[in-house]
Amino acid sequence: MQRRNFLKKTGLGATGIVATPLLSSWKIAPQHITTEENTQSVIPLAVCTWNFENATAKAWEVLNSGGSALDAVEQGVMIEEADESNQTVGKGGRPDRDGNVTLDACIMDKDGNCGSVVYLQNIVHPVSVARKVMEETPHVMLAGKGAEQFAYEKGFQKENLLTERSKRDWLKWKEKSQYETIINIENHDTIGMLTIDKNGDIAGACTTSGMAYKVGGRVGDSPIVGAGLFIDNEIGGATATGVGEEVVKTVGSFLIVELMRQGKSPQEACEEAVNRIIAKNKNHDTFQVGFLAINKTGEVGSYCIHPGFSYRKYTEEGHTNNPSSSHYKAE
Ligand code: ASP
Repeated sequence: MQRRNFLKKTGLGATGIVATPLLSSWKIAPQHITTEENTQSVIPLAVCTWNFENATAKAWEVLNSGGSALDAVEQGVMIEEADESNQTVGKGGRPDRDGNVTLDACIMDKDGNCGSVVYLQNIVHPVSVARKVMEETPHVMLAGKGAEQFAYEKGFQKENLLTERSKRDWLKWKEKSQYETIINIENHDTIGMLTIDKNGDIAGACTTSGMAYKVGGRVGDSPIVGAGLFIDNEIGGATATGVGEEVVKTVGSFLIVELMRQGKSPQEACEEAVNRIIAKNKNHDTFQVGFLAINKTGEVGSYCIHPGFSYRKYTEEGHTNNPSSSHYKAE
């Protein structure tokens, strides 16, 4: 029944892989995957931020063959980390303003364990290093050179992450930027993924190359547990994309899980988190922030603001704040 509602809600009736551009106008497009067999339930489930369909397809493959939510989420996001055409994650990611590709990632399992790496260089799969931190050290977070050294000790290979394309873009940016450190509102994304396996257990991962042309050393929300990602296996999970500074200030993913604990749906919780950011920022229509959340029953929600979208104008016009509406317009 829940699955039926779910498919009805998203307007899709297909079986197998279902890509749902739920909020495509806002460019946060969770993909929902379920099967005809699971008529009583929406699990297993894999959703991610943006249109990373290959990633959710991989996660689904793992889930469908009986794999754990944790394996699925890791292998899912690894697809994007390895994809050089994706300039926002892993190899091929855009560098900082000095030309260094620095990666942030975290992963969280059903037991509340988590691992994270920040400012990691020369390693294609930060999410896997984060998992090693979680499973093979007593720590939660490793940074910079220490994280890189740890990765080599665990058998990861050194690799140049700056592709010709990203190098060319960076050099072009340098010509006109005068090396200024403004928050870049165009060249960033992140893959945040949430999965539920056949046992109903939840895992999540979040991985990014961060803001393009950022100040060297800058770390965003994506590797910060509670900000870029949070999982509570009793309640659900949430992940974020967009201007990480705003997500960190709101501890967005943790907030969303706590709101779901208090009874809000994933959708309501995502909206509340975004609205808190809006309330604190007069310039909220100049940056992009989005959240994606699932609850224990596999209900999905997502909500996003992005540049050019005037929330105030929209509500003044009498619209409701319903993200599944297609009425949202860029000004
Ligand atoms: N949240 C990422 C960061 O701030 C970037 C993004 O998702 O667009 O590093």
